[in-house]
Amino acid sequence: MMTHVVSKETVFARAAAGSLFAGNLIAGASSDGTVDNTTPIDNSVIGKIGDAVAADVDIAVAAARRCFENGEWRQLAPAERKQIMLAWTELMTRHAEELAALDCIDAGKPITECLNTDLPATLETFRWYAEAADKVFGKTAPAGNAWSWIVKEPIGVVAAVLPWNFPAQMFAWKVAPALIAGNSVIVKPAELTSLSAYRMIELAHQAGVPAAALQMVCGRGETVGAAIGRHMDIDMVSFTGSTEVGRLFLTYAAQSNLKEIVLECGGKSPQIVFEDAVLDEAAVGNILSAAFWNMGENCSCGSRLLVHRSRKDELAEKLKAGLSGWRLGDPREEGVALGPMIEQAHFDKVAAYLQTAEQQGAQRIIGNGVRTDLGGWYIEPTVFDNVRPDSSLFQEEVFGPVLALTVFDSEEEAVALANNSVYGLAASFYTQDVKRVLRVASALQAGTVSVNGFSEGDITTPFGGYKQSGFGGRDKGLEALEQYCQTKTVWVCE
Ligand code: NAD
Repeated sequence: MMTHVVSKETVFARAAAGSLFAGNLIAGASSDGTVDNTTPIDNSVIGKIGDAVAADVDIAVAAARRCFENGEWRQLAPAERKQIMLAWTELMTRHAEELAALDCIDAGKPITECLNTDLPATLETFRWYAEAADKVFGKTAPAGNAWSWIVKEPIGVVAAVLPWNFPAQMFAWKVAPALIAGNSVIVKPAELTSLSAYRMIELAHQAGVPAAALQMVCGRGETVGAAIGRHMDIDMVSFTGSTEVGRLFLTYAAQSNLKEIVLECGGKSPQIVFEDAVLDEAAVGNILSAAFWNMGENCSCGSRLLVHRSRKDELAEKLKAGLSGWRLGDPREEGVALGPMIEQAHFDKVAAYLQTAEQQGAQRIIGNGVRTDLGGWYIEPTVFDNVRPDSSLFQEEVFGPVLALTVFDSEEEAVALANNSVYGLAASFYTQDVKRVLRVASALQAGTVSVNGFSEGDITTPFGGYKQSGFGGRDKGLEALEQYCQTKTVWVCE
């Protein structure tokens, strides 16, 4: 399968010419309304994106249902689905630079990160689930005189509703396991970042994924997202996004067909530095990455730094020194670590938190906050000290490069502060005491706990949240594959 490979320079040139496009990929006639797509890098128009209507969802669902029932995808042998997904992965690998550049221009993500982190992780996700296709199967039960087996079957029509912060990666986390399980999948990317999803689905169809097995409806949350949530013939929605919209999906399901809902939502993750922590370059780098990677537009962002009183001054000094190596600027340039916020509305929201933090008694000790001189929606990595547990900065997800520092005096206090949140997505802590590792890892209310570093695990480990960070399942790992299946018991009577 030969396709023309596009360099990042070509993507950026097309953006400058305003000619990038993403729209519906529906197996049937759909609407063709579009709106301008702008880049947060400098607010220029980079092309058009689809602005679908609710009726498009109906057309996509009808095609997805037909595909599921005629078995065009579902009834392929798992090894055949595997081969097609591997061929697709191969195509995406050839187009990795183009896909990385699309995420960079669409979301303002640093190209270095898109090339070196997002795309490799995306491709690895597809490879891993493709390989799992023919290695996961059912079991038999010790059923006495009867004969009984338990099988996993695909659920049916599954919609993936995606956020904008890791467009290619979030697409992979949902689509790879849902599709390999044999479901018909409909993708609704975030309206701010549809470009890489559109291109990846085009490549999927080229690789042999049937057009109705993987479709995309490109449009706004209130129209397309709501139509998906309320649809009577969608069996499952896998959602990643804000807790606020996640709640809406539970309502939509309750008001329609009780479709299964899996939510991966927001976070306010703590990082704890105990009195015995080793604060070497690697540890400080990890603390900074947890807080500022992807401009803090990261669900597992370690946005609360809880530090033992005895180590605070030393840590603050080291954070400041470490941050001096983080370049803020045009994310198309290699080596830039921080790009702009995704859009003006979000920039305004983050900027408002900077003001509120000071009004609520916190002191800015690192960073200058907003940068109006760079042309887009840029905010410097900023650290506040003396952040009170009852303040907005401690309790609310900012989703920007703003770190809240709070001191503690004992392990009990640290754990209580860490768990003082409605969220529970991730947590990390730094200590040399192995007994403390066992105690604290067990006491923290979070779906992923990292010790002496910051990690979301890899594709083999499940990822998702406790409390209001998640509901109903996990992304990644075999857990994700299972959640896109339903369980059937077959009981053969004597
Ligand atoms: P969002 O909730 O605004 O949007 C997510 C998706 O929901 C988009 O596709 C959007 O179009 C759609 N949507 C918006 N309004 C809707 C409505 N009324 N009805 C139906 N659908 C609607 O989230 P976002 O701003 O795109 O992403 C940021 C959020 O995502 C943050 O809160 C972040 O923590 C979270 N997130 C979580 C994870 C995780 O794995 N837990 C990963 C990435 C991002």
